[in-house]
Amino acid sequence: MEKIKLGISTCLLGENVRYDGGHKLDRFLTDTLGQYVEYVPVCPEVECGLSIPRESMHLEGDPESPRLVTLRTKQDMTDRMVSWAQKRVVELEKEELCGFIFKSDSPSSGMERVKVYNEKGMPVKKGVGMYAKTFIEHYPLLPVEDEGRLHDPKLRENFIERIFTLKRWREVLMRKESRGNVVDFHTCHKLLILSHSPKHSQLMGKLVARAKDIPLKELYQQYQTILMEALQLKTTPKKNTNVLMHMMGYFREELSADEKKECLEVIENYRREYIPLIVPMTLINHYVRKYDQPYLKQQVYLNPHPLELQLRNHV
Ligand code: SF4
Repeated sequence: MEKIKLGISTCLLGENVRYDGGHKLDRFLTDTLGQYVEYVPVCPEVECGLSIPRESMHLEGDPESPRLVTLRTKQDMTDRMVSWAQKRVVELEKEELCGFIFKSDSPSSGMERVKVYNEKGMPVKKGVGMYAKTFIEHYPLLPVEDEGRLHDPKLRENFIERIFTLKRWREVLMRKESRGNVVDFHTCHKLLILSHSPKHSQLMGKLVARAKDIPLKELYQQYQTILMEALQLKTTPKKNTNVLMHMMGYFREELSADEKKECLEVIENYRREYIPLIVPMTLINHYVRKYDQPYLKQQVYLNPHPLELQLRNHV
């Protein structure tokens, strides 16, 4: 797989672009995730023409449509930022990004819970950075996160799963359009989708089943939309347990009574959140190899991202 293209707030890469001339280097993003990702850096404040260093800014007014204002001289930067952002998000279309990682809490780049100050100077954490808002409105289904949220193992896992899946889907889009390619992609991703949303899994199954009756362009469009919506929903121990039990069903004939008991115990311990998902997953992977199970062998769910990222390791 080629590297995954992700947009990122420039300061997270260690570039000295912050208002005070500093940076906010995030080692996980550069050193670990960076091995699989090609970053497209975006610093809204510098790219819209402001200097380094510069006066710091904050959001103020109505949290739904705040103004971006400098702290000391009270210059209103809203129009300048919005008109730059609207052009920049269109320009980014050519990059085919699989997602964006924003700098948290920034009045330009923060994607949620950014402070918005009222006329008394009191903040409420209800704002979205000016650039982040424009980006999210332009790409509503694209995976987005901020570096703070990515410290949470579950959010990190979900984001990484989404960007890897979107990248694999983009590779399908690069090939000649055919119903067979959509069906093949769906076949390999069935269990992954099920782990996010049984409802979407059903919808996609129905869509693929009537693929012959749908114009090709429409099939791709509909499939992509449902796929992205499904992956926005987080996996849970309950949903994963459902998928693990489903996979175990493929070994009904092969497993001895002892092996079945062991497998059920491991799945139950995972369901109760005593052990991480990687444990039942390793056991099932072992059976898939041992019994050469053809359907499960091709399931992305069993290996959705590189082991080195150490996901599925948390309880
Ligand atoms: S938070 Fe955004 S605007 Fe501020 S320095 Fe980082 S990239 Fe630039």
